[in-house]
Amino acid sequence: MQVSGGLQVQNLHKKFGEREVLRGVSLQAQRGDVVAIIGSSGSGKSTLLRCLNLLEQPHEGTLSLNGEVLQLKRQHDGSLGAADAKQLQHWRTRLAFVFQSFNLWQHRTALENVIEAPIHVLGKTKAEATERGEALLARVGLTHRQHVYPAQLSGGEQQRVAIARALAMDPEVMLFDEPTSALDPELVGEVLRVMRGLAEEGRTMLVVTHEMEFAREVANHAIFVHQGLIEEEGRPKEVLVRPQSERLKQFLSGGL
Ligand code: ADP
Ligand code: MG
Repeated sequence: MQVSGGLQVQNLHKKFGEREVLRGVSLQAQRGDVVAIIGSSGSGKSTLLRCLNLLEQPHEGTLSLNGEVLQLKRQHDGSLGAADAKQLQHWRTRLAFVFQSFNLWQHRTALENVIEAPIHVLGKTKAEATERGEALLARVGLTHRQHVYPAQLSGGEQQRVAIARALAMDPEVMLFDEPTSALDPELVGEVLRVMRGLAEEGRTMLVVTHEMEFAREVANHAIFVHQGLIEEEGRPKEVLVRPQSERLKQFLSGGL
């Protein structure tokens, strides 16, 4: 495989039991690309993102990030996993994951959520991590909420904390799995605005989303996943406006 900058994914396969839910997915994101991943429920979008940072172990495939091929080891169950816990942890700091359901630590304040991993994984001092954490919370508009616990935050605020937490690891790629799908409609905009800002700043992002306007306007590449395969891809303004395949036409008209 030819290796260059950005993220490269080659021929990814993933099975759950006998069922193959990813059937050979290849994609690439150059540095600064924003890739929108769309597709109907159950098509394999989450599994794809989860395989990229090894929340799930693929059965076949190659991943490389900024010139480094991830060396995966065949496990007893036939899947490919990290060689050891250290490699796994390091890989996950390079690709940060933002979940649909935020996944904040409930017994930690917003700021404590953001500084936890920089201290315990990156080995930063509490003072360093706090200074950066405060700056990141300011960046997502939450300075006034930094000492508040997640239960007291709105969904939109929780997701912005989760984004600040991801940024605190200085990831090379950010993976978003339907980051606004759990939000009340009036809270979607504040999260999308933060994500748009990250895109404008040149962050490399893969975003599973149903927000077609965001996909069209912010992403520079769109991928339509259908039954574990990429069915169609290209520039969002072409693919999402003039789809070629019947399945994508159907999906975009709300029929899938
Ligand atoms: P999407 O995110 O596009 O809705 P998923 O990646 O979540 O799709 O799921 C793809 C398929 O894999 C679905 O049929 C789902 O039921 C199945 N699946 C996902 N996770 C698991 C799991 N942990 N165990 C078994 N089946 C799973
Ligand atoms: Mg999903």
